[in-house]
Amino acid sequence: MRNPHAGVPFDTSDEDIAEALLDVSIPTLMLSLVHMSGDPDLIRGRLKPAGLFLNEVQGYMSEEDKAAVRSLALEIIGSYRDRGCPEPEPISADLLHEMMNWLVCEDVPDEYVPMLMEEMELDGADVRRVDLTADTETREAFPVVVIGCGQSGLLAGIRLAEAGIPFTIVEKNAGVGGTWWENTYPGARVDVGNHFYCYSFEPSDAWTEFFAQQPELQSYFQTVMDRHGIGPHVRWETEVLGATWDDEAGTWSVRTRGADGSETTLVARAVISAVGQLNRPNTPEIAGQETFAGPAFHSARWDHDVDLAGRRVAMIGAGASGFQIAPTIAGEVGHLTVFQRTAQWMFPNPNYHEAVGPGVRWALRHLPFYGRWYRFLILWPGCDKGLEAARVDPDYPDQQRAISEMNEFTRQMFTDWITSQIGDDPDLAAKVVPDYPATGKRTLQDNGSWLRTLTRDNVDLVRTGIDHIEADAVVTEDGERYPADILVYATGFHANRVLWPMEITGRDGVDLRSLWGERPAAYLGITVPGFPNFFCMYGPGTNLAHGGSLIFHSECQMRYITQCIEALVAGGHRSMEPRQERYDDWHERSQQELKTLVWSQPSVKHSFFKNAYGEIHVLSPWRLVDYWEWTRHPEMDDFVVR
Ligand code: NAP
Repeated sequence: MRNPHAGVPFDTSDEDIAEALLDVSIPTLMLSLVHMSGDPDLIRGRLKPAGLFLNEVQGYMSEEDKAAVRSLALEIIGSYRDRGCPEPEPISADLLHEMMNWLVCEDVPDEYVPMLMEEMELDGADVRRVDLTADTETREAFPVVVIGCGQSGLLAGIRLAEAGIPFTIVEKNAGVGGTWWENTYPGARVDVGNHFYCYSFEPSDAWTEFFAQQPELQSYFQTVMDRHGIGPHVRWETEVLGATWDDEAGTWSVRTRGADGSETTLVARAVISAVGQLNRPNTPEIAGQETFAGPAFHSARWDHDVDLAGRRVAMIGAGASGFQIAPTIAGEVGHLTVFQRTAQWMFPNPNYHEAVGPGVRWALRHLPFYGRWYRFLILWPGCDKGLEAARVDPDYPDQQRAISEMNEFTRQMFTDWITSQIGDDPDLAAKVVPDYPATGKRTLQDNGSWLRTLTRDNVDLVRTGIDHIEADAVVTEDGERYPADILVYATGFHANRVLWPMEITGRDGVDLRSLWGERPAAYLGITVPGFPNFFCMYGPGTNLAHGGSLIFHSECQMRYITQCIEALVAGGHRSMEPRQERYDDWHERSQQELKTLVWSQPSVKHSFFKNAYGEIHVLSPWRLVDYWEWTRHPEMDDFVVR
C-alpha cells in the first residue's frame, strides 16, 4: 500500500506549480525535493536556511536563494509528476537526521530522533497504535468507558476501536470537540500551529489558517470521528456523575445522566477519563453581580443571541480567551471596557492570523513528506527549549523582574515588542508591561491585534480591581463607575479542580477528590493507587506551559493506556494500579522540579497553574522527550497487578 504521507499523484501544469511555489516554506520544500530526487547533495551545497526563528517558517533565506530553490524545484517536481509520482525510495536514518539538522539549523540531539521520527511517520507507520493479542472473545469481555469526547476522548475511542476493545464514550455536549465544541466565543482559535496541532496519524492538508479558528477545529475532529466510525459509540448530551469501583467484581460502575434527566449505570472493566483540565468555567463571585440587568455570560458559554452592535460591553478577565475576544468584537461594540487583573506577556507571532495559501495546501497534498517535515519544523522550536528557558537561576539578583539571564533577554524582547506598538503612551505602557518574569504565566501569541485594540477610542483597559457590579455598571475599588449593557466573564476555568464535579470512588470507598484535596496527582499523570483500572488523559501534572501540544501528550498517554489494557486482557488480570511508592516518588520529584521553574515564582501572583497555596500540580515540569520515553511502554513493576 502506498505510504499515505508520500503525496497524491497530480497533473498540475508547470505554470501552476510555479505559482504554488511562491507560497511554500522553502526549507521544507528542499527536503521534499530530496525525497523526490533521492539526491542528498541538494542540502549539502550553498542553498540552506541561515537560521530558524519561531514561526518564521521560511527560515531566513535571501530572496535570491529562495528563487534558486524554486527554479530547482520546478525541474524536480516536473520530473516527479511526469514519472507518475512514484513513491520515494526510503531514506537512511543518517540522512534523515542530517535533514532534520539542516532544516532547523542546529544539531538535533540523538535522543530526540526516535521521538521525532515517530511523530513524522515518514514510513507511513502509526506505531502509537497498539494491536491487542488476545482473542476476540477475551477482548470483548473487557468493556471500557471513556469520559469525554474532546481531542483526548476521541483519540481514546480510535485506539480502543483499533484494539478491538468494546467501549462507550460518554459526552456531556451534543457533539465532538470538547474545548473546540464549547468555546465558540468570537475570535476563538488555537495557538499551536495546526499542522502540528492535529493527530500525528491524521494530518490535514485543508487548514485554511495556520492557527485555525474554532469552527474549523471542531470540524476537523468531526471528520476524524466520522472517518474512524467513532460516533455510534458515543452517548451524547450525557454527563458522567461519578464512578465507583467494585473490588470483588473488578468493575467500575459509571453513573450517567442523560439530557432528559434519566440516570443510567454503565459497567466497565476500565475507565478512561478524558475530561480535560480547562473545561469547567470559573465565574468569580463579585458583589452585586446578580443585580446586573443585561446579558451576562462566560466566554466558554457565549450567548450568540446577544447582539453586541453598538452596545457597551464590559469584559472581566483577559487571559488567552479575552485576548482573542477583545480584538474581534471591538469594531462592532459601542464601547468595550476590559478589566484585567494581571498584564500578560505576549509573544510576537506575525503568522497568527495568516491564511494558509493555496500553494501551501497544494504542496501539503502533493509533495512527498512536505507536511511531515513542516510538522517537525513547527514542533521543534517548542520541543523542550521552553523548559530550559523556564529554569530559575537562584543566583540571579532580581527575581521579581527575571529568573535568569536568558529570562531577562526574553523580557527585553517581549517588552520591546509591546512598547513598539503603543507609541509614546506611558500610561498605557504602565498597564500593559507585566511586572513579573516573562513566561511566568501562559505566554500568549500576538500579532499586534491586542494592543491595536487597546489603542482604539472605544476601548478602555482597566487594571484597578473590581469592587462590585450594579444593574448597569462595573464599579472599581477606586469608586470609578464603568457603564455596561453586556457583561462577559473571560475568567478562565477551574483548572485545579481536576475531574470535578465527578465523584470517583475507588477501593474501600475512597473518594478521589478527598484524597487529592488541593494536590491532585497521578503516576505519569495517568494512574492513582487505590483506583484500579482508572486511567487519566490530560490528568494532573500533564498540562504543558513550555511547548509541545496537548495532542502530542494525549498520544503518549493513550499508547501507554492501551498497553496497560493489553497487559490486563492478555494476562487475564482483574486489575492494575500503580504502586504507592512509585506514585509518591513521582509526585515528590514533580513537585521538586516544578519549584525550580518560573511558573512557581512567588512574583507570579495570579495564575491558573497555581492552587490556593500557590503550589502547582497541574503542569508538567518534564521534557517532552522524557515523557515520551516514560510512556512508551508501561513498566509492569510499577503496578500492583491482581
Ligand atoms: P485564563 O488564562 O485563566 O484567564 C482568566 C482571566 O480572568 C485572567 O485575566 C484572570 O486574571 C482573570 N480572572 C480570573 N479570576 C478573576 C477574579 N476573581 N478577578 C479578576 N480577574 C480574574 O483563562 P482563559 O483566558 O480562558 O484561558 C485559559 C486557558 O485556556 C489558556 O491558558 C489556554 O490554555 C486555553 N486557551 C487557549 C486558547 C488558544 O489556544 N488560543 C484560547 C483560549 C484559552 P489573572 O491573570 O490575574 O489571574
